[in-house]
Amino acid sequence: MTSAGEQLCYTDAYARSTTAVVRHVELGDSTLVVLDRTVFYPGGGGQPADRGLLLRGTDGRTWTVRGARKAGGEIVHELDPADGDPPKAGDTLEVDLDWARRLALMRTHTALHALCGVVWRDHGALVTGGNMEPGAGRMDFEFETMSGDLVGSIEATVNAELAAERDVRVDVLPRDEAFAIPDLIRTKINLLPEGISEIRTIEIVGLDLQADGGTHVSNTREVGGIRVTGYESKGRINKRIRIELVDPILDA
Ligand SMILES: [Zn+2]
Repeated sequence: MTSAGEQLCYTDAYARSTTAVVRHVELGDSTLVVLDRTVFYPGGGGQPADRGLLLRGTDGRTWTVRGARKAGGEIVHELDPADGDPPKAGDTLEVDLDWARRLALMRTHTALHALCGVVWRDHGALVTGGNMEPGAGRMDFEFETMSGDLVGSIEATVNAELAAERDVRVDVLPRDEAFAIPDLIRTKINLLPEGISEIRTIEIVGLDLQADGGTHVSNTREVGGIRVTGYESKGRINKRIRIELVDPILDA
């Protein structure tokens, strides 16, 4: 059995294109393509999968990648069967992300971590879930005392933290070492499957540290500012905060 293809999104969030060889193609409702290397993020942790293009240099043929997902350890690219004949195993392809969309997702994801960091540090509230699209997202907290006034001050504090130009670091830690970090427990890494021997972490230095599989900008200055666009009670304890980026899409 060959090992999984190289998955650049986890080590270099800024890799937006690469050259790859097709390993496997499967026809169905989507045409599924596995490559020996890719820059696509397969989705997860509230961050949607990337979109983009595959290009075959030998004849200039292109395919739109409408989604991606993880299957059996591989990142699988989903093509529209209406795009015609799929690429073939052995083809060399150029792999290109829709970079404006991905960058907006990276900025949004990092903004949500800054929000989590502030809400945890200043109010001790745990995150229970979250979701995002490019430029906007929401987080759910166990946050009984949340109020409109509080949400206004949280917005100001998050913006001050983003403006503090904090570096964002990616690490991969052995499971035992990760479990020894008290702050990681709040992100429920204990829910991770037993078999996982390494934990990937995202740290907004000085503000937030979480177990996370997503893609992030490398400094909070790249996020710009956020706006709180709404908040709701999902019960006595569970509260939801919605945010958007002040500049949803920057020039990629
Ligand atoms: Zn995350």
